[in-house]
Amino acid sequence: MKSIAVIGGGITGVTTAYALARRGLHVTLFERHRYPAMETSFANGGQLSASNAEVWNSWGTVFKGLTSMLRSDAPLLVNPTPGWHKLSWFAEFLAAIPRYESNTIAGARMAIAAREHLFGWAREEGIDFDQRQEGILHIYRDKARFDHAARVSTLLAQGGLTQRAVTPQEMRAIEPTLAGRFYGGFYTESDSTGDIHKFTVGLAQAAQARGVALACGVDVRRLDAGEDGARVLYTRDGIEEAQRFDALVVCAGTASRKIAAMLGDRVNVYPVKGYSITVMLEDAASRAAAPTVSLLDDASKLVCSRLGANRFRVAGTAEFNGFNRDIRAERIAPLVNWVQQCFPGVSTRQAVPWAGLRPMMPDLMPRVGPGKRPGVFYNTGHGHLGWTMAAATAELIAGQLQQALAPASPRRRAPLAA
Ligand SMILES: Cc1cc2nc3c(=O)[nH]c(=O)nc-3n(C[C@H](O)[C@H](O)[C@H](O)COP(=O)(O)OP(=O)(O)OC[C@H]3O[C@@H](n4cnc5c(N)ncnc54)[C@H](O)[C@@H]3O)c2cc1C
Repeated sequence: MKSIAVIGGGITGVTTAYALARRGLHVTLFERHRYPAMETSFANGGQLSASNAEVWNSWGTVFKGLTSMLRSDAPLLVNPTPGWHKLSWFAEFLAAIPRYESNTIAGARMAIAAREHLFGWAREEGIDFDQRQEGILHIYRDKARFDHAARVSTLLAQGGLTQRAVTPQEMRAIEPTLAGRFYGGFYTESDSTGDIHKFTVGLAQAAQARGVALACGVDVRRLDAGEDGARVLYTRDGIEEAQRFDALVVCAGTASRKIAAMLGDRVNVYPVKGYSITVMLEDAASRAAAPTVSLLDDASKLVCSRLGANRFRVAGTAEFNGFNRDIRAERIAPLVNWVQQCFPGVSTRQAVPWAGLRPMMPDLMPRVGPGKRPGVFYNTGHGHLGWTMAAATAELIAGQLQQALAPASPRRRAPLAA
C-alpha cells in the first residue's frame, strides 16, 4: 500500500489525511502540537460561508489599508516596518487585482463544493461540531456598502450561490436580537456555522479509526523528495527520527512557506492575524439575547456564530504584523464593544480572547496541487476561508494523489503555479 505523509494537523491537514484514508492510502499525519487543531483551526469565526468568498484583491482594500494604518482599532492594520516577505506578498496581492472577479467566482464554487463533503463526513462519522444551518446574514449600515454587496452578489451567483437582498425589517425578522440602524442586508440561507476545533478533532479520531497514524507532538524539521520517494526528518521528545514515504502533502498553515522552500517551491503564504472572543452565555437572559443566525457586519468586518446553546463567537480584524501572536487588548476591545452595541442584553463578563494567523496567499486562493519535485503536493494557504473550503480542497488533492500514485501514471502532473 502507498504511504503518504501529511504535514500539519489543522483543518486542511486533517481533512486531507481523512480523504486519503478513505481512498485506501496509508497516511501518517505529523503535527507539532500534542493535539490537532491547536493553531489557526482553534477558535475562528465558525462560518461556513460561501457568501464571504469575495477575494480582497481590490484597490478599495488597498485604500482602506492605507487610511487605517494610523488607527489601532481599525479592522485592517498593517505594520509599516518593511520586510521582504511582506513586500513580496503585497506586490503579488496587487498583481492579482485583475483576477478579482474570476477568483471570487471560483472561491464561491469551491465553498459550495465543500459543503457536501463536510456535512457527509460529519454525518457518517457522527461528529458533533455545534453545526447550525440557519444561514448567514451580511449587514450594511450605508448605501455605498450595500450597493457594493449587490455587485459582489452577482459574482457569487456566477459561482452558483443564491442570496437575497433584505430590508432592515426583514433583517429583524431573520434575527430578532440584532439592535441598531441598518441600510439593508444580504441573506444566504444555504450558509451555515460550526466549531472548527470540535470538527477537526472529531475527524482526526475518525481518520485514526480508518488507519491514519496520528503523530502528534512531532516537529517536522526537514523534508526531501526525489525519484525514490519523500523523506521526513522530525523530532519527537527531542530525539531525531526519519521516515520514508511514497509522497507527502504540505498542510502546515503559516509554516507552509518555510517548508515549501525546503522542497524547492515558492508558496508565499503570509500570516494575517485575526482575533476572536468566545462569549460564554452563562445566564438565561444572555442566551435569549444572543443571535442564532450568523452575521457578517461589513463596516467592522466582524463575523459572529452561535456555537451550541452556551457559546457565542465573534471574530475578525486583519493585521499584517509577521508571526506575532500576542493578544492585544486594543484589538480585542472592538469585538467586545460590538457585542455590547448589537446585542445589548448579552453579558460579556466571560469573554475568552484568542488570536490566530490566517495562512493567506497573495491572491487569496489556496495552493492545491503538486510541487516541483516528484511526490510533493500542497494543500495550503486558505486564508480567511480555510474552514469553509478545506473539505473541497482535501478531496481535490486526495484525488490528484491517488491518480499520481496509480501504477500506470507518472508520479506528478503539471508543476505548481508560482
Ligand atoms: C480570527 C479568525 C477568524 C476566522 N474565521 C473563519 C471563518 O469564519 N470561516 C472560515 O472559513 N475560515 C475562518 N478563518 C480561517 C481559518 O481558520 C483558517 O484558514 C484555517 O484554520 C487554516 O487551517 P490550516 O490547516 O491551513 O492551518 P492551521 O490550523 O494553522 O494548521 C497548520 C498546522 O500545521 C502544524 N505545523 C506547522 N509546521 C509544522 C511542523 N514543522 N511540524 C509539525 N506540524 C507543523 C501547526 O502546528 C498547525 O497545527 C479565520 C481565521 C482567523 C484567524
